[in-house]
Amino acid sequence: MARPSYMAVDLSALVHNYQWACSLAPHSQTMAVVKANAYGHGAIECAMALQPYAPIFGVACIEEALVLRKAGIHKPIVLLEGLFSADEVAVAAEQGFWVMVEDPTQVSAILNANLAKPITVWIKVDTGMHRLGLSPSNVDRYYQQLRASDNVAQGIVFATHFASADEINNDFTKHQLKLFMDTVEPFNTPLSLANSPAIMAWPKAHADWNRAGFMLYGNSPLDADHPSSQGLQPVMGMYSAITSLREIEAGQTVGYAQTWTAKRTSVIATVSIGYGDGYPRNAASGTPVLVNGQRASLVGRVSMDMITLDVTDLPGVKIGDPVCLWGKDLNINEVARHSSTIGYELMTRVTQRLPIKYIR
Ligand SMILES: *Cc1c(COP(=O)(O)O)cnc(C)c1O
Repeated sequence: MARPSYMAVDLSALVHNYQWACSLAPHSQTMAVVKANAYGHGAIECAMALQPYAPIFGVACIEEALVLRKAGIHKPIVLLEGLFSADEVAVAAEQGFWVMVEDPTQVSAILNANLAKPITVWIKVDTGMHRLGLSPSNVDRYYQQLRASDNVAQGIVFATHFASADEINNDFTKHQLKLFMDTVEPFNTPLSLANSPAIMAWPKAHADWNRAGFMLYGNSPLDADHPSSQGLQPVMGMYSAITSLREIEAGQTVGYAQTWTAKRTSVIATVSIGYGDGYPRNAASGTPVLVNGQRASLVGRVSMDMITLDVTDLPGVKIGDPVCLWGKDLNINEVARHSSTIGYELMTRVTQRLPIKYIR
């Protein structure tokens, strides 16, 4: 007795993907990025599975880092978006969180804090994302101030973030790389540039610390096929089952707003999963869904609790048959394309209603 819908998370695939990221960049150390609840996979479970392998973790904010500390993650945790208020500096120092310094306000907060022990700082340089980071012309001044402060631990790291590393033919990545290298050249410090797409497709961006997020969860962020995606195994699967079946006549419509009309006598299967679970409401008719491992098409609007499929061409479908919305046999990026988004968003929007089964 239970609604047949759930998410499966394969923690051995997660560890495998982490090791794959390391093997692509053997001269770098690899941070495991577990922000946004480990891209929807469960931050505590994922960080626990990776802790024996990953030297450091990355999250967006101090709230996410505190959850991991309480759960027993003892490795350093980098706050990738830095500090949101001055009172976070002392907590971060105390807890062994490393902070990305993104702008002059954050520099002042660190310099003026009253700390029991120094804090580890990464300086983010804005090389073209124009979202966060110190501008290259200001880096020298703020670096010298931080380096001279007793509040700051030895070994400041310089970091930057790419805007278009997923586009394997986009020269903007080369431009950012050169600007970064020219900016940090005088300082002789450790460096960190690469996110997943750069780990996979831009080996010149590999440095002391790479920052692997999306690829850990087993899918490629790149815009084209690439050998570096061959070692990735999808970690998340979204599953349900057929809960109702009916035959409709040509000319009859399915679902809210009657957006799909049968062109022939059709068998419609209802599946108990919807946007209330994180399946995208804007998935178009024609989005692939697996029934008994075979492809069927989503038809009509996605409802909060249900979707409808055309299974006319799959003979023998019956109530209770297993359905896969995405996973090892149906790539989340393909589903994302049918709903005008990216795999990153589909993963992070899976809702609390869907129970998670961890496979170890
Ligand atoms: C999220 C994030 C990453 C990880 O990016 P992926 O594309 O998911 O690998 C790396 N660095 C920073 C600063 C981030 O915010």
